[in-house]
Amino acid sequence: MPTRVAVVTGANRGIGREVARQLAARGDLVVLTARDADRARQAADEIARSGGTVVPHPLDVADPAAASRLAADLARDHGRVDALVNNAAICYDTWARASAADLDEVRTALDTNLFGAWSVTLALLPLLRTSGQGRIVNVSSEAGSLASMGGGTPAYALCKAGLNALTRMLAAELSDDGILVNAVCPGWVATDMGGGGGRPVHDGAAGIVWAASLPDSGPTGGFFRDRRPVPW
Ligand code: NDP
Repeated sequence: MPTRVAVVTGANRGIGREVARQLAARGDLVVLTARDADRARQAADEIARSGGTVVPHPLDVADPAAASRLAADLARDHGRVDALVNNAAICYDTWARASAADLDEVRTALDTNLFGAWSVTLALLPLLRTSGQGRIVNVSSEAGSLASMGGGTPAYALCKAGLNALTRMLAAELSDDGILVNAVCPGWVATDMGGGGGRPVHDGAAGIVWAASLPDSGPTGGFFRDRRPVPW
């Protein structure tokens, strides 16, 4: 079986970098993307030193032209994409309230966290279709679960609720292409976004790597944490 080509967004630090490391350790060729080209190269070099094939590529997910450039380069160099992990995100706005929201802040968050993931997916879809075994993982959060939605964190929660809805729609539309689409919450993880006290990135990344490596018989249109379904 040929080496799988896996693309991870926002992979220069945090959970994304650990997902890239674990996918490379599995034997995937990992395209490690970050909005800063130097940081992408640095993270790719660090991971490659401990084994695996990791190729850096610049990608600001909020820039649709950048997604098109990535797709063109991947088409030229690899001809397909087997796994896409939409990980990049901003704005965990725990200080904010929906009833007193700064809508510019909400729009900025949506541009990266929802439209960013959507636009990268659209750009890479032809290559995921070519794979015939494409996997899309939308890194979500239980903050976006309507089942437990309360007040607070309005921009972030809205983005993740939207990403969950997108996951269901894509899963329904892409099943005939052999593409499995799932949302995964990594749990509370100790990163710049998560702050101190969360669990190690290794544990948060593992469930994402699982969803990015599902067999053809695996689930699609699900929302998981640690491989187990969580309520929408
Ligand atoms: P971090 O803040 O540590 O890392 C976020 C990453 O996203 C960075 O690499 C950052 O790049 C990148 N990024 C932000 N904006 C863009 C952009 N426009 N284009 C490309 N990359 C961008 O966050 P985490 O690692 O904690 O989070 C990863 C994912 O996990 C997110 O989707 C988050 O919502 C989710 N999550 C995290 C939880 C946690 O407890 N940590 C809990 C639940 C979900 P740069 O260095 O350039 O800023």
